[in-house]
Amino acid sequence: MKLIEHFLSIQGEGAYAGRLAIFVRFGGCNLRCAGFGVRLKAPNAKELIGCDTIKAAQCENFDFKDTNFSELKNIIKSHNAPNAIIVLSGGEPLLHQKNTDFKDFLRFLVEQNRQVHFESNGTIEPDF
Ligand code: SF4
Repeated sequence: MKLIEHFLSIQGEGAYAGRLAIFVRFGGCNLRCAGFGVRLKAPNAKELIGCDTIKAAQCENFDFKDTNFSELKNIIKSHNAPNAIIVLSGGEPLLHQKNTDFKDFLRFLVEQNRQVHFESNGTIEPDF
């Protein structure tokens, strides 16, 4: 389970636009949308074409590190934003729903009374 990036920002889309949000972006996607035709040269010199989160969707072409529950928990704490919603994004974050570290992370967030949102492409049924 690759971690692409995390950051504190304002949700700019959808029903929760305007809310403070911690975004956690995971690698991997089950689709290969053309998007706006973003072109990017990967470190392996392969030219990639795809969506605006091409590094996440095609993370296998980059050197992103695996993450785990401990790191994810510390990331949330490090942002020091107790009222922020948590936006799990990708790629397609639900690809990881059977991953033990991902499930532990979700359990931790729920126990912290965090509101958790998934930015999903809608092709994978949640089954926690
Ligand atoms: S991240 Fe979203 S836009 Fe990009 S390939 Fe996956 S589903 Fe398509």
